[in-house]
Amino acid sequence: MSDAAKDAHRTGDGTRAVRAGLPEAVKHEPALPGPVFAAHFHLPGEVTGPYSYGRDDNPTWTLLERAVGELEAPGRDDVETLVFASGMAAISSVLFSQLRAQDAVVLPSDGYQVLPMVRTQLEAYGVEVRTAPTGGDAQLEVLDGARLLWIESPSNPGLDVCDIRRLVEAAHARGALVAVDNTLATPLGQRPLELGADFSVASGTKQLTGHGDLLLGYVTGRDTDAMAAVRRWRKIVGAICGPMEAWLAHRSIATLQLRVDRQDTTALAVAEALRQRPEVSGLRYPGLPDDSSHKVASRQMRRYGCVVSFTLPSRARAERFLAALRLVEEATSFGGVRSTAERRGRWGGDAVPEGFIRMSVGAEDPEDLVADILRALDASAE
Ligand SMILES: *Cc1c(COP(=O)(O)O)cnc(C)c1O
Repeated sequence: MSDAAKDAHRTGDGTRAVRAGLPEAVKHEPALPGPVFAAHFHLPGEVTGPYSYGRDDNPTWTLLERAVGELEAPGRDDVETLVFASGMAAISSVLFSQLRAQDAVVLPSDGYQVLPMVRTQLEAYGVEVRTAPTGGDAQLEVLDGARLLWIESPSNPGLDVCDIRRLVEAAHARGALVAVDNTLATPLGQRPLELGADFSVASGTKQLTGHGDLLLGYVTGRDTDAMAAVRRWRKIVGAICGPMEAWLAHRSIATLQLRVDRQDTTALAVAEALRQRPEVSGLRYPGLPDDSSHKVASRQMRRYGCVVSFTLPSRARAERFLAALRLVEEATSFGGVRSTAERRGRWGGDAVPEGFIRMSVGAEDPEDLVADILRALDASAE
């Protein structure tokens, strides 16, 4: 670990983000070396690591992995981070490397929309899959005998929150490992390993990289054997990210604190504006002091994310609202600098009302965004 990395926990988030993962300064070299494009590396004689073949390792990944590790677990050198082609590649690598036939796993019933497909695949391999909703720590009731507890907090798209520390203690007492999907919070919003989790797993496609122009995933973990199995899985399935994506991601992390501070503050302003509107129901944002998640969220989160969810009275009303927005693009995904929103019901899969909208708040001026949303609500009334 470099001296800068060792001191990382003493600095603020912005300082840490701009320096995360940078190599020692070398005269005439750039601060962040460019992407290394290589399928194989010179390898005369004995086979030694780290860089031999491009599916195993790449110097551009190494720097990004250091950066993510410094943000997920500042000042700790007993953690390892592995980057992947996508969030799903990272999630699958943990699940499929840690679970065997006859093992039981607890997954969220209200989590990311691809998890039900993962469930089917795990069951086909003989893994027992139990599910529980995220809110209210309902996972406690199905933990006995489980090998792995999978937490998604805040959950996507419902924005429920569970008490990670409490669940980790209960899981560890029963000999189960705990993984937390940290996509929505980002490492600046929540640090699952400090809350006791064994793995922090995330999609870097969302707010971590924040420009909606690449797919990426990562796993940060502290158990050496478990991480070796995750690494082996990455090699087996080849779920690797390209050097260009890794470099773009690293470059984007430099502005992470600027983006999350702006986006998360504006998300609260948007939520507060929506709360005044009679046609809005089911409003959720963990940063709202009267949100049902707020009490637990404020104990374990340092920022509350850029996603706001709410429900309009009907599908037609929601569609008119989305069409009337000028500064918010209708698109899936979240976390980018340009605001987006969508009616989740159009996908099927999430158990949400027809008028349910997930809105991702970008880096626009808060006044412009709030005005556009209020205008679109008026225009969609009829
Ligand atoms: C988007 C998302 C994923 C999947 O990430 P990809 O990069 O699209 O594979 C996983 N978990 C959550 C919570 C997500 O929002």
